[in-house]
This record gives sequence, C-alpha cells and structure tokens, in this order.
Amino acid sequence: MQKRILVNGAGGFIGGHLVKKLKAEGYWVRAVDLKHHEYATLAADEFIVGDLRDAGVVRGVVEGIDEVYQLAADMGGAGYLFTGEHDAAVLHNSATINLNTLELGVQAGVKRFFYSSSACIYPEYNQRDPQNPKCSEESAYPAAPDSEYGWEKLFSERLYFAYARNRGTQVRVARFHNVFGPRGTWSGGREKAPAAVCRKVAETPDGGEILIWGDGLQTRSFLYIDECLEAVHRLMESDFVGPVNIGSEEMVTINQLAEMAMSIAGKKLSIRHIEGPLGVRGRNSDNRLIRERLGWEPTRPLREGLEKTYAWIAAQVEAACTVPA
Ligand code: NAD
Repeated sequence: MQKRILVNGAGGFIGGHLVKKLKAEGYWVRAVDLKHHEYATLAADEFIVGDLRDAGVVRGVVEGIDEVYQLAADMGGAGYLFTGEHDAAVLHNSATINLNTLELGVQAGVKRFFYSSSACIYPEYNQRDPQNPKCSEESAYPAAPDSEYGWEKLFSERLYFAYARNRGTQVRVARFHNVFGPRGTWSGGREKAPAAVCRKVAETPDGGEILIWGDGLQTRSFLYIDECLEAVHRLMESDFVGPVNIGSEEMVTINQLAEMAMSIAGKKLSIRHIEGPLGVRGRNSDNRLIRERLGWEPTRPLREGLEKTYAWIAAQVEAACTVPA
C-alpha cells in the first residue's frame, strides 16, 4: 500500500524541498505549516495551514499517517537565534511542537519519525578554534550549546530517543549543519549566512561595499539541499537511528563565502566588518559516522550549490526591485 507521509514545516525551506522529493518518489503526502510556502507551489496531496503547538491540530494531522518528518521549528539565522530576544519563544514553540507531534503521533499509530536536530547542539567549548572545531556525534556531552535553540534541539533529541526506549517508537535523528539552496528565506532577519551573503552581493553594485558581522574569520560548512535530502532518505531507509551529522566537511570562513559569492556574481566588492550576533567561532561537520553507517557524503563542492543559490536570490532581488508598470 502507498505509504502516507506527514511533513511538518512543509511551508519552510527544507520541508518544501522534501515534499517535492517525496511526491516525485510516489508517496502520499500531507503537508502542514503555519503558512503556505512563499516560493513554491507544493504538490502535496493535502496542505494544512495549522499551528502544531495546538494539540487539536496535531491530533488531526497525524491521523492515518505512517511516517512523520518533523521539521517545524521556530527557526532563523544568527540574527534571530543569537540575540537572545526570541529565547522564550524558541524554547516554548519548538518544544511544544515536538511534544505534541511525538505523543499524539504515537497514539495515532505513526510507525516512524524523522527529527531534524542541529549542529547547534554541540558544546561551545569545542568550537573556539576556528580551524579545529570538534563536532563528532559523541562530543555532544557534557552539553553546552551556545543558544537556547541548541538546548531545545538537544532536549527534543532526548525526547525522541526516550520514546524509542520506553514506547518502542521508531525514530531517526539527524543533526543538520547549515543547509542552503534556492527557495529558502533570503531576507527579513531569519535568513542564514549563505542567503544573506548572496542577497548582499546581489543588491550591491560592482565596486560597492557589503557588511559582514564579526571579523569574517569565523568558520562554517554549508550543505546543499539536494545532498541533505539524499542523506535523510538513506537514514530513514536504514536501521541506524542516529543521532548523526548531516553536513559538509568543506569548511570556509565567512569572508571566503563572501568572496565566493562575489566571484560567482562577477563583482568586486569590499567587505566592512561590523558588530553583530555571531554564534560559535568555528564549526564543521564531522562525517566519519555517516560515511561508516550510511555510506553517504556530499558529492558536489560548495561553489556549485552557491552558484544555484546565488542565481535564485539574484532573481528575487531583481524582482523585488522591479516596479510594476
Ligand atoms: P524554515 O524556518 O524554513 O522551516 C520551518 C518551518 O516550520 C517554517 O515554515 C515555519 O512556518 C514552520 N513552523 C514554525 N512553527 C510552526 C508551528 N507552530 N506550526 C506549524 N509550523 C510551524 O527552516 P528550515 O531551514 O527548513 O529547517 C527545517 C528544520 O531543520 C528545522 O527544524 C530546523 O531547526 C532544522 N535545521 C535546519 C538547518 C538549516 O541549515 N536550514 C540546520 C539545522 C537544523
């Protein structure tokens, strides 16, 4: 029988891409989010606009579902998560979504849950040297995430594994490291570094200046959306439960990311470093476990994904600047 899938957070970046992939693979898909997708028309069999903090909504959407992809979260880039202004909302909203989805999903007979945790769970003390961050899965404890977002992810990982132990629930938990690509948030304050950098480069005329938070020597790695979804697929099909990193090991500084976007755009811009919310000093995925257990690693370089992302964001910027006649 055709598997029935629920995608929570389908109006968001990764959820939107996931719905497209699951439909292409022939599944029946129910999508749910607070809002419709801003940049795509999703081919979900049902799209329900609803609030997953509301148990009544969750009870309805888990009905008749075989597998849940729980991607909904109160989420954003550094400008949203690291200022401290949204801490209570992030903890309350995301934890409530996970508590509801898991308990009511189990009650309704959902067979398997995918949960998207984050590299933000890793301890701050292992990410102070930008050239040698440590993010292997077992290094998560003693826990010391640098944001409440990370603490909520860690709590929810524990929640999913506790249900696996006590209730026999099948769970799969991945820790995503900076996933990027077209059709994601690119403006408004919740955008993440690759989208923000592409937008700044696209908006700035050749010879101009862009602003970068911090000294730009902080390091990160970025994973293109298609690679991420392949890893999620392999994890869901395997008997490995995780938690496992899904990320890229191609670590760059934020200055290098900006230079790459400029080179793609064919622009020469200067960078002015200003104060801003930063997150940890260095971060990179450690893919030893996922290579060993799932035989997965990214197949394409960062630049290739950034080219596609830049092209999409440049088109958004252009459309936003075009005044209708
Ligand atoms: P996103 O913000 O684009 O998508 C999340 C979606 O959840 C949004 O569309 C939002 O409207 C929805 N949502 C929030 N609260 C909701 C509620 N109460 N009820 C219903 N829907 C609600 O984020 P994304 O980049 O697609 O991330 C998806 C998941 O992956 C999130 O859980 C995120 O924490 C995790 N993650 C993402 C990254 C990344 O780099 N993109 C990295 C680590 C972890």
